[in-house]
Amino acid sequence: MIDFKQGIGMTSARTRDRLVQRLRDQGIRNKAVLEQIRNVPRHLFVDEALSSRAYEDTALPIGLGQTISQPYVVARMTEALLDGFEGEKVLEVGTGCGYQTAVLAPLVKNIWTIERIPELLRRAKQRLRELDIYNVQFKPGDGWKGWPKYAPYDGIIVTAAPDVVPEKLLQQLAPGGRLVIPVGPQGVQDLVMITKCGDHFEQVSLGAVTFVPLVKDNS
Ligand code: SAH
Repeated sequence: MIDFKQGIGMTSARTRDRLVQRLRDQGIRNKAVLEQIRNVPRHLFVDEALSSRAYEDTALPIGLGQTISQPYVVARMTEALLDGFEGEKVLEVGTGCGYQTAVLAPLVKNIWTIERIPELLRRAKQRLRELDIYNVQFKPGDGWKGWPKYAPYDGIIVTAAPDVVPEKLLQQLAPGGRLVIPVGPQGVQDLVMITKCGDHFEQVSLGAVTFVPLVKDNS
C-alpha cells in the first residue's frame, strides 16, 4: 500500500533533511539529537491545517493558547541536557503537545512529564503511545512543584518560562544533575543550564528564547 503521508512534499524526507541541515548550520552538533529531529514526525503534533509548516524552524499553535516549540530550541535544550549526561531519570515540565518529550524519550531511560492543561496532556499521551513511546509517565499538575515522588532527577527540562528558577525544581536535582530552563519576564527570556555541584549550583547562559509563561496556580 502506498503511504500517501510520506509522499506529501511538505512532510517528505527532503523537507526534514533541510530542517536538520539548518539546525546543523545553527550549531547543533549532537548527532543523536539531530537524528531525532529527523525521525520524529512533527506534522503529527500540530493541527492538520498546519502540517505543511511542520518542518519549518518555527513555533506553531497547538490550541488552548499554547505552542509547539521551535525545533532549534528543542534541539538546543535537548543537547544541553544530554551533554555529559549520566543517569537515567528526567523530569519534564510543560508537556504541551509532547513533541519535546518524543524527541528526548529514546535518548534517556525514563521521563516523568507534567502539564497543567489536562486536555493537552491527554492528547500528548495518546500521540506518544501511537508512536510506540512507552518510557514516559504523565501527570496533570503544577510544574512549579516538580514531581517529588520520583525525585531526585538526573535532568530536568522546563519548556515554559518562570520569572525565577523554582526552588522545588532545584531541590529535586540529583548530585551532578542538570536543569535546563528559560527564565525571565514574558516576551524574552534567558535559557539557562544549572548544574548541581556538591552543595552549590553552577549556572551557564545559553542565549535568549521566547516561551509561554510557567503559570503559577494559586493552590
Ligand atoms: N514542550 C512543548 C511545548 C510546551 S508549551 C513542545 O514540545 O512543544 C509550554 C507548556 O507548558 C504548555 O502546554 C503549558 O500549558 C504548560 N505549562 C505552563 N505552566 C505550567 C505549569 N505551572 N505546570 C505545568 N505545565 C505548565
